Amino acid sequence: MADLEGVVAADGSGLSPKLPAVRPDLAALDGYHSAQVDVEVRLNTNESPMPPPPGWQEALSAAIGSIEFNRYPDREATALRTALAASHGVGVDQIFCANGSNEVLQSLLLAYGGPGRTAALFEPTYTLHRHIARITGTPVAAGPRQDDFSLDLEVVGGVLADAGPTITFLCSPNNPSGRADSSDEILLVAGMVPGLLVVDEAYGQFAPSSALDLRRKDPAGTRHIAVVRTFSKTWSMAGARLGYLVADPEVVRACELVALPYHLDAVKQRAGRLALDYAAEMNERVAAIVVERERIGAVLADLPVETWPSDANFLLFRPNSKDAGAVWADLVSGSVLVRDCSKWPGVTGCLRVTVGLPEENDRFLAALTESLR
Ligand code: PMP
Repeated sequence: MADLEGVVAADGSGLSPKLPAVRPDLAALDGYHSAQVDVEVRLNTNESPMPPPPGWQEALSAAIGSIEFNRYPDREATALRTALAASHGVGVDQIFCANGSNEVLQSLLLAYGGPGRTAALFEPTYTLHRHIARITGTPVAAGPRQDDFSLDLEVVGGVLADAGPTITFLCSPNNPSGRADSSDEILLVAGMVPGLLVVDEAYGQFAPSSALDLRRKDPAGTRHIAVVRTFSKTWSMAGARLGYLVADPEVVRACELVALPYHLDAVKQRAGRLALDYAAEMNERVAAIVVERERIGAVLADLPVETWPSDANFLLFRPNSKDAGAVWADLVSGSVLVRDCSKWPGVTGCLRVTVGLPEENDRFLAALTESLR
């Protein structure tokens, strides 16, 4: 054994190991956080305002009783993936599951990004695409969207031609704008990308179309389109952390290469599998949220704010007559929390509100009206 005399005193003092510096490319990164303030009405993180159906909660409690907790879970998540595959009419080899769709995005970037490769994206968009790219050491090539948040296909073509990305991200419906890219636009981008096209459909159920339809119509011609979905929004299961990918089997295998063994715990696998038995209830919730979204949109149209149509479960708006930060603070004073995007590039001066329960939306609209009076 090494002689520690002179290094460590008998009481253990004297030992002060130096920590290594964090990777230099991470040092300047800020984490991704939504300010959490203790309020009565939380409309800042695009969750479902409703808990999952009571039947699901009961079925999950019963299922937990039969889990062998001393054993590792099914590494392939077979039951969950099989049920998801059936729900989308695809093969089980086209489904990869992970701990939230953020982890799916991370898996894609670990598998297809990295130093020496490039990820392309079009901003404003979901900030985690850029953030996870940086964490995985993937250089980012970004182009702007137009003022109405639609894609400028010339800009897209230019970015793709210059950067030659292995992985290109679209977010549809897009966060934070709420706008969905049309199937035609997605197909045109798919025709231009030199690598994989990832369509993040975290809010896909609220939108009129999905890239999954494109994959279904022309499987061979769209095998480079990978669609990411989550249980966090429609399925009212943000707390369970479950997301998935529908993609070519080769892409699924690539994600499996970078996933840690047994990354999906047994409870989560049961929770997701059982949730799929409640598709009808979830669709009712989506419909109810869409009705509320349109109601909020109509009220916003009469206020001194700029708004944009939304295909998601949230709306973006820009107060015209008052500073966005001041409006945000007024809302917090009224115990309503929305997302302050006012400093984000491309959406300067904007706030984003998640559609809540009707009474929560009333509270938001009343507080906003008061603030802008
Ligand atoms: N993609 C988009 C566009 C999102 O807005 C979110 C949630 N903020 C996610 C992915 C991540 O969702 P989760 O990890 O909860 O599945």
